[in-house]
Amino acid sequence: METCPECKGEKRFWALMHYEHKCEWGWMSCYVCGGKGIVTQQKVKLRRYGESIRIDRIKRGLSMREEATRLKLTPYEYSCRETGKVPK
Ligand SMILES: [Zn+2]
Repeated sequence: METCPECKGEKRFWALMHYEHKCEWGWMSCYVCGGKGIVTQQKVKLRRYGESIRIDRIKRGLSMREEATRLKLTPYEYSCRETGKVPK
């Protein structure tokens, strides 16, 4: 296991939370490690890969949807690749 690259092992973020009627600053559980502070090496790899394809896509000026269409993926599948998640 490795320290979570997103929260740096803090397990949570100080983030602006969006509620139905207001926005408020508060602690949000890290969505990358699921609040554990550590992630598997596999996840770190997926995330690095996701970042690299995102940067590449932005350089080419394509939206997520356009890139998904180009790769014959659904926008959901493509967004999972960029965020290092495995599609369910
Ligand atoms: Zn984390």
